[in-house]
Amino acid sequence: MGMPQTATGHRLLSLYRHLFRHFGPQRWWPARSRFEVIIGAILTQNTAWTNVERAIAAMRGAQLLNPRKIDAVPQEQLARLIRPAGYYNMKAERLKHFTRFLLTRYGGSVQRMFRGKRPGLREELLEISGIGEETADSILLYAGGRPIFIVDAYTRRVLERHGLIATNIPYGEIQRLFMTHLPTDPALFNEYHALLVAVGKTYCRRTPRCDDCPLLYDLPRGSPLLP
Ligand code: SF4
Repeated sequence: MGMPQTATGHRLLSLYRHLFRHFGPQRWWPARSRFEVIIGAILTQNTAWTNVERAIAAMRGAQLLNPRKIDAVPQEQLARLIRPAGYYNMKAERLKHFTRFLLTRYGGSVQRMFRGKRPGLREELLEISGIGEETADSILLYAGGRPIFIVDAYTRRVLERHGLIATNIPYGEIQRLFMTHLPTDPALFNEYHALLVAVGKTYCRRTPRCDDCPLLYDLPRGSPLLP
């Protein structure tokens, strides 16, 4: 891992190291194939991962973890199977939109979709109805190994509370903060995002538990959250 040159880079890397020391490796993304990572990225919107696992297990049981099968199955049937993931009608539609895209543009091959380094792939994914920036970036990083930083609600909350960003700045600006100040390393981006989710779930909740949090040391002077 190359060293960052800026003060912000040092600070971001230090946060990362403290998180890693505290939580250890998160081993994301748990999946059996790149296609399954993508299915998980779509299903995980607004729900806990345990529910996604149940939905994916049901799809596996029905031998539906394959783009052609998803394309062929009636949407209502797919929706019933993925019910544990919540918002199942909407998510069934999104799965179908994605697989249609994959079949039409890449002959159903995830390998082909990721072949080469086409920077346009992110835009292509964002054009699919129901795929937003967080989902597109999860697909690019966790299924494609692309060096792209994922921003989610936890990322935003931790950075805001630590005074690293102003409130309500756009997704892209937060992403740029990480990507300009950290080494371009997909393994680092992978682990960092997973660790931010871990700290968000454990300590940086709506009501923060700073006293026990590994990032307490970084709270800026004068922060109302300081004990
Ligand atoms: S819980 Fe407190 S110390 Fe921990 S990340 Fe959130 S604001 Fe920072």
